[in-house]
Amino acid sequence: MEQLNGQRPSAHDQQHRARGLIIAAAVLVVALLGGAGLLWSLVAHASGSAAPSDDSDTPTLLDADAPAEPELPANDERAAELAYDPDRQTDWSYQSNGQKVVYLTFDDGPSENTEKVLDILDQYGINATFFVTGNDPDYRGSIRDAYERGNTIGMHTMTHDYKTVYASEDAYFSDLDQVAQVVKDEIGYVPYLVRFPGGSSNTVSANYSPGLMTTLSEDVPARGYQYYDWNVSSGDAAGNNVAVDTIVNSSCVEGYTNIMLLCHDSNTKATTAEALPRIIQYYLDNGYTFAPIDRSSFVVHHKVGN
Ligand SMILES: [Zn+2]
Repeated sequence: MEQLNGQRPSAHDQQHRARGLIIAAAVLVVALLGGAGLLWSLVAHASGSAAPSDDSDTPTLLDADAPAEPELPANDERAAELAYDPDRQTDWSYQSNGQKVVYLTFDDGPSENTEKVLDILDQYGINATFFVTGNDPDYRGSIRDAYERGNTIGMHTMTHDYKTVYASEDAYFSDLDQVAQVVKDEIGYVPYLVRFPGGSSNTVSANYSPGLMTTLSEDVPARGYQYYDWNVSSGDAAGNNVAVDTIVNSSCVEGYTNIMLLCHDSNTKATTAEALPRIIQYYLDNGYTFAPIDRSSFVVHHKVGN
């Protein structure tokens, strides 16, 4: 199931993986030599937007113009793209971009299954997006791991408790601020990406605060975040460890060019990880690529129901 059947990773993926190898090599060298300045110069080299086609400008041990101890230097470009910035204007794409792309999304993690999912994504050389909660401190290291392996991190809420999260607008943003801090502690910044528990179309919130989703669906973007619903669901939320065949059948559909696929990452979703290779292979066989969400990605918004 790990065979790619002749499918080659995209040029982007190859570039991405090559960059990862260079960064890993840089970290190893620095671990041996203990030079923080060298790390910066090597990583800045690896992260340059115009990747050199040869090694002619590889920095040497004598490179002296290095800034001291940058925080998370390997991810500076992605941080600039994905960081929450209330003053930034983005031209969001609410329509398909015309190219066959699957955005795999995993809600509710991190969990005991996160690393399994990450390993499968790595086997295929693809990336996904994880909308995380603050519910399980034991697995928070997987947030950082997911990010460092090229995946996008978004915020799902701190508690995922509908009664708490949807008590009021203030309660929602208070909860969001908490999970923002959790994510910042792991990846160094607050991302702009949000997914509402139950999606923006949820009506459960009406039990606690009538009209709240109408308010939040306007105020969350107005504050500089973007929220992402989905257009295909894996069906893995129907119960604990839904049958693999059921998840595959729900996930593998025709008729969409851009697919925002809802999956879950929790201790009771081992079968989602088991289904993942078949889902990935189906879309590869049908000419799709996979991408983590960024500001240029397809944005799905549901019809708000409260
Ligand atoms: Zn959820």
